[in-house]
Amino acid sequence: FLRVSEVSKWYGDEQVLDEVSFGMDRGDVTVLIGPSGSGKSTMLRCVNRLAEAQEGSITLDGEEVLSPDTDVDELRREVGMVFQSFNLFAHLTAVGNVALGPRRVLGLSEDAARDRAADQLERVGLADQLDSYPAELSGGQQQRVGIARALAMEPKLMLFDEPTSALDPELIGEVLEVMRGLVDDGMTMLVVTHEMSFARAVADEVVFLDDGRVVERGPPEQLFERPERDRTARFLDRIA
Ligand code: ATP
Ligand code: MG
Repeated sequence: FLRVSEVSKWYGDEQVLDEVSFGMDRGDVTVLIGPSGSGKSTMLRCVNRLAEAQEGSITLDGEEVLSPDTDVDELRREVGMVFQSFNLFAHLTAVGNVALGPRRVLGLSEDAARDRAADQLERVGLADQLDSYPAELSGGQQQRVGIARALAMEPKLMLFDEPTSALDPELIGEVLEVMRGLVDDGMTMLVVTHEMSFARAVADEVVFLDDGRVVERGPPEQLFERPERDRTARFLDRIA
């Protein structure tokens, strides 16, 4: 469904991705782990063309993402992204934030966009906060609005870049809970996270990146319990 093949990227002379390859079937959850600066965010951003890979191939549903003919707007409608920072519009309510894409990008009527937004906010457990402004919501609630906003576009793939890293520890659980719900719904998800218990519980495959290279990848039980590479074991020891 998503196939990343020998993707390389440079910023100036600095190579940040070095022939990265991995693949996902529909409904799979893949977790990318690795030290700071290893290229995790860059890899995600290449999938929706927020960053341009210079070499390799990325296919989504059989279509070459890196082709110059790719309609980048359409690609970004199909690939939802959730960032560490929530980036909500402060002057819009929760429902207003979530309805914006369906209204402006998909062209739904005001009512239809609002209904869709309300459905997605309910899905993330915020049915009683539809008319709250971001400043009235906790960080965990704001991030759940961010997830609902991505879901409202009905993406076929969701990218998460450290969605819980900006949250106070007591708010992390509610966001992971929502993400587990998406996994149960069969959403295809590519997730960068340091939440190893989440990765262990839901990942079909874990990919360990270091210095722009895939050092090792495999099912979580293998990668976490019996890493084949010394480098992987040392990284896991350090974050455990
Ligand atoms: P972190 O865990 O800190 O988020 P990461 O694994 O997501 O790290 P990236 O953000 O992908 O790492 O960065 C990989 C490398 O690319 C780093 O050396 C970074 O400095 C560099 N880099 C990232 N974005 C840019 C940019 N826009 N311009 C120049 N260099 C960049
Ligand atoms: Mg990053």
